[in-house]
Amino acid sequence: MPDTRMPHVVVFGLGGTIAMTSTANGGVAPALSAEQLVAAVPGLAETRIDVEVVDFRRVPGASLSFDDLDELAAAIEGHLAAGADGVVVTKGTDTIEETAFFLDLGQTRPEPVVVTGAMRNPTMAGADGPANLLAAIQTAAHPTARDLGGLVVFADEIHAASRVRKTHSTSGHTFVSANGGPLGYLVEGRPQVLNKPTTRVTVPGASTRQVEVGLVTMVLGDTGTLLRATADQFDALVVAGFGVGHVPANVVGILTELAAAKPVVLASRTGAGSVLTRTYAFPGSESDLIARGLIPAGFLDPLKARILLHRLLATGHDHNTIRAVFTGSGNA
Ligand code: ASP
Repeated sequence: MPDTRMPHVVVFGLGGTIAMTSTANGGVAPALSAEQLVAAVPGLAETRIDVEVVDFRRVPGASLSFDDLDELAAAIEGHLAAGADGVVVTKGTDTIEETAFFLDLGQTRPEPVVVTGAMRNPTMAGADGPANLLAAIQTAAHPTARDLGGLVVFADEIHAASRVRKTHSTSGHTFVSANGGPLGYLVEGRPQVLNKPTTRVTVPGASTRQVEVGLVTMVLGDTGTLLRATADQFDALVVAGFGVGHVPANVVGILTELAAAKPVVLASRTGAGSVLTRTYAFPGSESDLIARGLIPAGFLDPLKARILLHRLLATGHDHNTIRAVFTGSGNA
């Protein structure tokens, strides 16, 4: 007998531009509930998807914390365990690339967890929130999106959470997967996946401790002042190096000390491509830094590397396991 049950999707509202309206003093701020967002989507009723809403937070993307994300991950797990076919998270685009990867790392179940938002708020002509939300719900409800972990659906593109980056401050096509491209597209309301990643890292389990992971970007003429002044405050660090993973010779000493004391991951500040491991051989080159104990991030950009490092530490993994996860994952 065919399965005639309507797919059940749970939409969590967290705020962001998609949920903003005008304030009395001018400008916009998060105000709309998840229920209001769903009610504003034309054509949703015709999809025959059963939508439940959870009004989770009403904050700008910049104000979300790891505690919020831990709570969100637990709530998502609860709804999926209770039988939901998929989940959509609506939130501020400013931290979508980090939030989606956080949820992706914790998702060991087959159901899709789809994150979306809007670049044009509901008071503007051509607001993109309703179209993005409809596409996200259609993706979360569809069997094609199962076993892909965390996804970002935006402007009718489906992106892997581990790859996607916000690349433009205002464009509606801000979300780009520079490493490998989008996984697929929404076509006539149906998700079509053309390009599946071959590896996916997961870090199951709830956080058991509070950790702080710093991110320091190398800049021309860097002498390590920022690293020296702040590194003690962090349990681990990501260094966004030049190009394939380089730092000025001046910074090698402090990084050597830090890598002996805590996990220090080396990523590229370029925004695409992998750090290398054995091509350049001068003080501050990638091979020099790796020999000094830094951990190469592979294809993970600095923001993604920080989320993976945070999740590994928060769930109790030690330095050696962290190294093994970063170097063994392929990080694609
Ligand atoms: N501009 C952001 C957005 O698109 C604001 C935020 O992240 O809350 O939602």
